[in-house]
Amino acid sequence: MPSPGHSATSASPGSSPGPPGLAVVAGHARVLTPAIEALVAELSRLPGIGPRSAQRLAFHLLRSPSERPAALAAALSVVSERVGLCNECFSFAEDGECPICTDPRRDRSIICVVEEPSSILPIERTQEYRGLYHVLGGALSPIDGIAPEDLKITELVGRAERDEVTELVMATNPTMAGEATALYLADALRGVVRVTRLASGLPVGADLEHADELTLGRALAGRQEL
Ligand SMILES: [Zn+2]
Repeated sequence: MPSPGHSATSASPGSSPGPPGLAVVAGHARVLTPAIEALVAELSRLPGIGPRSAQRLAFHLLRSPSERPAALAAALSVVSERVGLCNECFSFAEDGECPICTDPRRDRSIICVVEEPSSILPIERTQEYRGLYHVLGGALSPIDGIAPEDLKITELVGRAERDEVTELVMATNPTMAGEATALYLADALRGVVRVTRLASGLPVGADLEHADELTLGRALAGRQEL
């Protein structure tokens, strides 16, 4: 017996798009609704997320209480509207100022030079460093067409020339490009400021964000003149 008020047979494919639901398109079965397909497509653009993980995440969100996906959507929207780069160090910032540059307790005589903002968190976790940062936005790599003018090098030289700055710590990744960048900067800044490099011992070829705190802390404490 059909339940009253519910007609499952009224939908005729092709007459109107109708509400999002299961549909059959162009000969192959469409299993997900267009809205869910769009969500899965966006999720699968994220690093480390393949199509299956994207589907799992999408289904997880759909099963969650409606305020969870809404809170996620709101957080994404706020981040994309408000977050830009710090005018000083080029890490992530809101209104042009990052929390580290505006913290009066930071030591302004020392600047740690990193490739990406993601390197800052592991260095902070070591609790070995209380200075400022400078985010280059990558590493020199002729093969990939990344030249000095593509990185925030002019801005770094400008900061290094300020009187209060006495040391730059090169904390570029322990990769070929990271090492080449550290050497290039040491040459460019010779005579301007003391330039040091993290001590060896970090896993070669990996990004700084994958180094463990203890190793990274030791590499910071044992940094050497470049
Ligand atoms: Zn900053």
